[in-house]
Amino acid sequence: MSFFQPLAQQPADALLALIGMFRSDPRPGKIDLGVGVFRDDEGHTPVMRAVKAAERKLWESQDSKSYLGPEGNVAFARHMARLALGDVELGGRLTGVQTPGGTGALRLGAELIAASRPGVTVWVGTPTWPNHPPILAAAGLKAQTYKHFDPASQTLTFDAVMDALNRAQPGDVALLHGCCHNPTGADFSLEQWRVIADTLSTRGILPFLDLAYQGLGLGMEQDAAGVRMVMDACPEAVLAYSCDKNFGVYRDRVGALFVQTGSAADTDRVASNMLALARANWSMPPDHGGAVIATLMDDPALVADWTLELNNMRDRLLGIRAALAAHGGVLGRVDQQRGMFSLLPLSPDVVKRLREEHAVYMAGSGRINIAGLSVETAGRFAAALNACL
Ligand code: PMP
Repeated sequence: MSFFQPLAQQPADALLALIGMFRSDPRPGKIDLGVGVFRDDEGHTPVMRAVKAAERKLWESQDSKSYLGPEGNVAFARHMARLALGDVELGGRLTGVQTPGGTGALRLGAELIAASRPGVTVWVGTPTWPNHPPILAAAGLKAQTYKHFDPASQTLTFDAVMDALNRAQPGDVALLHGCCHNPTGADFSLEQWRVIADTLSTRGILPFLDLAYQGLGLGMEQDAAGVRMVMDACPEAVLAYSCDKNFGVYRDRVGALFVQTGSAADTDRVASNMLALARANWSMPPDHGGAVIATLMDDPALVADWTLELNNMRDRLLGIRAALAAHGGVLGRVDQQRGMFSLLPLSPDVVKRLREEHAVYMAGSGRINIAGLSVETAGRFAAALNACL
């Protein structure tokens, strides 16, 4: 038997296979609602203007690529703490490090949680980002699922969320999407966040917050409001942050992990463990993206231009959502949802017919990337959908 014989074949990534099929489809006007990246009206995923300008500035000023430490770019982490949490400083009860994307932040956060409380239960609302369960499992954590969203009625099942948070044991962990829920777009209202924050704090459940789309829902401040409410209410919390969407730097892998603790002494212990875990995982995060974003954030003119472009990206998503919802039916509540994704109640057969008969490509789950449409193609998509239902 060969050494690797015991390995089971893993399923291919369905979304990557979809990219290949879309590319080789010769039909004009084909529509790609698959992979989760922002697109402009021309279907491009552009490098943002301010990011390009910051890269130029960095290229001119950077005089060494010598190693940094496992914490990555400290100025970057400080900037991201302020973007996410407002008027805060690292130190005291808050610590943070740069990570390879939001994925790296989630993995590091999960490993930190597992190191402190081996085998602890993490409550996860479903459906969720398909990479959440394997990341938790890889860190040795147990996931307990509950229903976050009902696709048929297109509603957030808040009663089921609260039932789960009330069933959780003190010391358990709740993984929560900060905004722009992937794959449903169904975010908590501020009133619901208030109830969640109070429940987590009174029941002693550790919030593990995943903020991967700040600025793509309703605005930078509004999209962080729930996370901030939870972190204000709970003495201890873990926040995984991704800059890959709101700065459009996906492949550069830019993120950060923040941990709020109950005391400065806890912060020291937590920080030393984060660094040790980071060292064992990736030694130190890739520098380029973090250095670019730190350069951008240090330049008020670039921050203003980045904000403008991000606002336009968000307005584009909101405009497409409004255009889709106007068609009613299964699309009728899409304007109540936020961010890049909605999850339509479509059978695998309908998804297949949309692809074969109408050149509309989407995930088998019925998840659509709103940015793959435009106000113009929204009508064509709605008509194709109607023809298949
Ligand atoms: N969390 C959620 C909910 C996501 O959708 C994603 C990316 N698709 C991530 C985290 C990870 O983002 P990154 O690409 O920065 O690793």
